[in-house]
Amino acid sequence: MESFLTVVQCRRDAAASRPLPTDDALATLELHGAVCQIGAEDNQLGSGTSHDEECVICFDAIAERLVLPCECRVSYCLGCWDRALAASFNSSGRARCPTCRTPVRVNFDPEAAGGRGRLVFSAENEGDESEERSDVVNRLAEQAAPLMTRLLRLHGETHPLLRPMARDPAGSLASRPVSHLKALLQHVGGDPAGCVVKADIIDRLLLRVGGAPQLAAECAALGLRPDSPDILELGGGSTNSLCLRCVCGGNMKRLSGRARCRQLISGSGQQLEPQVLEFWLDQLMRAGSRMVVCDLCDEHLSPDAPVYTCGNEDSTILHPTTYDCCESCYVRYAVEGREDNLATARR
Ligand SMILES: [Zn+2]
Ligand SMILES: [Zn+2]
Ligand SMILES: [Zn+2]
Ligand SMILES: [Zn+2]
Repeated sequence: MESFLTVVQCRRDAAASRPLPTDDALATLELHGAVCQIGAEDNQLGSGTSHDEECVICFDAIAERLVLPCECRVSYCLGCWDRALAASFNSSGRARCPTCRTPVRVNFDPEAAGGRGRLVFSAENEGDESEERSDVVNRLAEQAAPLMTRLLRLHGETHPLLRPMARDPAGSLASRPVSHLKALLQHVGGDPAGCVVKADIIDRLLLRVGGAPQLAAECAALGLRPDSPDILELGGGSTNSLCLRCVCGGNMKRLSGRARCRQLISGSGQQLEPQVLEFWLDQLMRAGSRMVVCDLCDEHLSPDAPVYTCGNEDSTILHPTTYDCCESCYVRYAVEGREDNLATARR
C-alpha cells in the first residue's frame, strides 16, 4: 500500500520560499490570453509585433516575440514554450528550453499584468540547479497564492447564487420543485426516503454536505442560478463565465475526493485495469489516505473531501504537478470573502 502511494504521491513536501528576482528577468510574458500585452517600455520582450514569425512547435503566427533566456534563435508562442518547460520539468525535474536544453528559471509575479499575474523566465543563477523539484513547485505555488485568493474572492463576488445561498439556503432553494431537491440530495449521496416537505430535504442536504457554505459551493459547481429555478442539470457544471478561474488562466473544476484521487493515479502513468483502479480507490478511501494537497493552504486533504482542480492539469510550468484548492479555502475566500493572507502565512 505504501509503495503504491509513494508512486502516486507527486505533491509538495516542504515549503521553500525565495523572493522574486531583483535582477532583470531576461524574458517576461503575460500568462493569460493569446496576445502578449506588455507595454513598449518593457524591453524584456522582443521589439514589437512580428506577424511573420511562426511558432516552431505549433506553426501558429506569433503576435509578440518572446526573448528566450538562452541563445536560441527560434520562436515559440507562449503556450508551446510553457508546455515544453512543464514537460521537461516533469520528465527531468528541471525546466529546459526544448531546443538547446538550457535550464530556465521560472518565477511568477502575481501583481503583474494589471493583477492577472505573469510568468517570468530567466537564465538560472549559480546555485539554482540545486533547488529540489518539490521546492520549485512549492515556490511557484507560494508566488501564485495571492492571485488565487483574489480569484476566489472575485468568483464569490460575481457569482449570483453562491453567497446568497450560503446566507439563506432554504430561501434560495424555496422556488425549486421537490423533485429537483430530491435529485440534488441523491446527487450528493443522500437518501430522500421519508422526506415529505421541502424543508426536510433541505435539512438533509445541509446535513449531508456539512453546512450552508458547502451546499452553496455544490450548487454553484452544478451551474444552478437563482434566475432560472428549473435548471438542474446535475453534472452539467458551471457555465464558463461562472467558473472559478485558476492562476494559470484555466478553469477550476469541482471534483469529489475519489474522482480527484482517480485522476491523480491515472495521471501518474500507472496502467491499471478499471476494476483494479476502483479496488485501489476503495482501499484509499478506507485507509483515509491523504494524497491530495491544497496548493493554497498546504493541507493534506481527506479522500472524501471535494476539491477544486485546474483543467490544465500538469501542462503549465506554473503548476507542473497539477493545481488543487480545498473546499475550506473556497469557503474562506469565495463564500466568506475573507481578506486575510492565511494561505501564505501558513507556509
Ligand atoms: Zn506554439
Ligand atoms: Zn534555447
Ligand atoms: Zn491552472
Ligand atoms: Zn486549502
